[in-house]
Amino acid sequence: MHSRLTRRSVLGGAIAAPLIARARPTTGAVPTATFALPIGLPDHIPGDGFVVRHGYASENTLYNPGWLHTGEDWYLTDGDTAGASIYAVGDGEVVFAGSEYPGLVVIVRHATDLYSMYGHLAYDLAVEVGEPVERGQPLGTVLARSDGRAPSHLHFEVRTFLTTPEVNGNAPRYAYGCGYECPPGPGYWPLDAPEHPSAMGWRNPTHVIAHHSLPVTSGNGSAEVIVAAAPSAAAAPLWSAPLGGEEARSISEVTLPPGDRFPLLEVRAGAEDARSTSAEGYAVWYRLGLPDGRRGWVQAAVPSTAETGSDGRPSSVVFNFYPAVAVEP
Ligand SMILES: [Zn+2]
Repeated sequence: MHSRLTRRSVLGGAIAAPLIARARPTTGAVPTATFALPIGLPDHIPGDGFVVRHGYASENTLYNPGWLHTGEDWYLTDGDTAGASIYAVGDGEVVFAGSEYPGLVVIVRHATDLYSMYGHLAYDLAVEVGEPVERGQPLGTVLARSDGRAPSHLHFEVRTFLTTPEVNGNAPRYAYGCGYECPPGPGYWPLDAPEHPSAMGWRNPTHVIAHHSLPVTSGNGSAEVIVAAAPSAAAAPLWSAPLGGEEARSISEVTLPPGDRFPLLEVRAGAEDARSTSAEGYAVWYRLGLPDGRRGWVQAAVPSTAETGSDGRPSSVVFNFYPAVAVEP
């Protein structure tokens, strides 16, 4: 299951789902870095076939009731996630590799205030500290878990810090797991803490990737999206605008046969420091061009109650589409 994905192959970009109020265009936001998804199977677009069972800033009642998850747990929709390939989501430098999470943790610095973190990796990492990495470069694979605490999966975080005093530096406010000067961090933050995880420097990974997912954000027809292997439904409504922003009306419907491709004209995503406390806070919308000439907005990812917080709100996110961005040889 170890991927031999080549650097020339098509890479998947972003992701996911719906909130709305803070949706804003990516236009102009990201001329430099472009991000892809952190996990994939050989010969597949990264992200395709995967689901987020426990989303950012949602409660994981299965393992840690009372705590908000500070990252995303990526699982294969069908089958064992062990052995899936983990990729750097963007260009950067490996600044941490180690720990016992269980499994190893890799942290990549993309900018002075932007880090991606990959947890529960198998012990034969493909990179070491100090190594520069490119978007889509393999970092390792998902550990085959046997500790009984959780099935094999990727814990993926995006944040502004490597260590910060109150979270994982010299004065952690909550001692969950990681402790002092521990770059991987706790992975959770109390539900009843005064600050939201976004206030501490964590970011909604799906929103960050969506904001960085396209080198060009409108118009030239070079970008495409691919219908996911397991979309949320057989068809999705096509809207005149993303819900929650301008006045939106339903135009028609788009059928979602897995593997179908559509031109991607524009992306809108919620704030990177979104402050929701369930997967309802996810907001990613794509403007598509359809073969019959219609254009409209679809929800790229959908909050799901496959897992919920103790209040019944969704903790999971199902993806309808993955962007495929052709990478120059
Ligand atoms: Zn996790």
